Order: sequence, then structure tokens, then C-alpha cells
Amino acid sequence: MKIICVCQNYLKHRAEMGAAAPIEHVIFMKPDTAVLLRNRPFYIPDFSQNVQYEAELVIKISKNGKYIQEQFAASYYEEIALGIDFTARDLQTDFKKRGLPWTLCKGFDNSAPLSEFIPINSLADKKKINFSLQQNGKLKQVGCSDDMIFSFERLITYISKFITLKMGDIIFTGTPAGVGTVKIGDRITGFIENKQLLNFLIK
Ligand code: MG
Repeated sequence: MKIICVCQNYLKHRAEMGAAAPIEHVIFMKPDTAVLLRNRPFYIPDFSQNVQYEAELVIKISKNGKYIQEQFAASYYEEIALGIDFTARDLQTDFKKRGLPWTLCKGFDNSAPLSEFIPINSLADKKKINFSLQQNGKLKQVGCSDDMIFSFERLITYISKFITLKMGDIIFTGTPAGVGTVKIGDRITGFIENKQLLNFLIK
């Protein structure tokens, strides 16, 4: 199982990260050991003083494909989840400055809390999927799939040009604005539409 992530897929989040470059697909990966399931607590690692949450819609690839054309891409995913792309922002800032890869600041153990998957067909509007994140009951991030710069289909088409997608692979599709730092004792809750899918503690 691969975990493929896209960054800066929402305009306002691009702005808050100070992205000046033209809009292009920026793709990275996390290892499977990043996944944190069943709302288990997240332990802040000792190598970072600034771990930030990024709430993201996550799609699961439902069949194998390579060079998937955009008009067929919608048939390659059927389920969606809410995930957190935890990022050691202090390390990332340093890596960016030095032109180093993001593997360690994005791919460390348990950096990808993931909810259960739900059928996309169970949602009222498949083209406008609303999601949100709360930190200690305060609303911090609100997103809608309709605001993505690159749609699920376009991401599948782009990624599958380079990397064969296999059944069970998951794609983190980018975070909206409002990212922030977690601290010990925080409770993180996450929603798709009104359904609470994530509810875990920071330790
Ligand atoms: Mg992200």
C-alpha cells in the first residue's frame, strides 16, 4: 500500500505557506508506517517543536491502473476518509531552505492519522464534499473538495503517469487554510459533512 500526498492544492493554504511559485502538482509520499488508525493517540515526536495538523480528504484507489485518462479516473476510487498529514514544520522549513526532500518531516511514524473509509456514494454531493477540523472543540480548518486546484480525477491521471496505482493505495488530496501547531493534551476532531470521523488525543 502506498500513501501518495499532494501539497498546496488549495489557494488559501498556498498563500499561508508563502508559496509564490506557479501552481503545479507537488507530490510526495509517506511510508505505510505513517498510518495511525482507530483514533489512537498521536505522540508528539521529540525531534520537532512544531508539529502541525493538515486535515485532508483521502481517497482509496479501488483498482489497479497506469496512464489513467481523466475521463475514466472517477471509476478508480469509491471510498473516502478524513486524514491528517502531520508535518514537522520546523524540519520542513529547514529542508525547504536547503532543497532537501520532505520524507522525514512528512513521513515519520504515525504522521498520517486516518479515519474509517466511507462510500463516496453515501454523500449527498460527490462534487462538493465538505470537511473540517476542530482543535479542542474550536473550528480551525474548513474545506470543500470543490475548492481543490486539482480534482481527484486530475490527481489520479497525473500521478498514474509516473507511478502505477494499485488497489488499496491512498491519496491525501491537500489541506485547506488554517493549519496550526498541536500540543500535548489537545483533542483533534475531524468531520466529513456532519459525520465525525476523527477524534483522538495528542500526547
Ligand atoms: Mg498536506
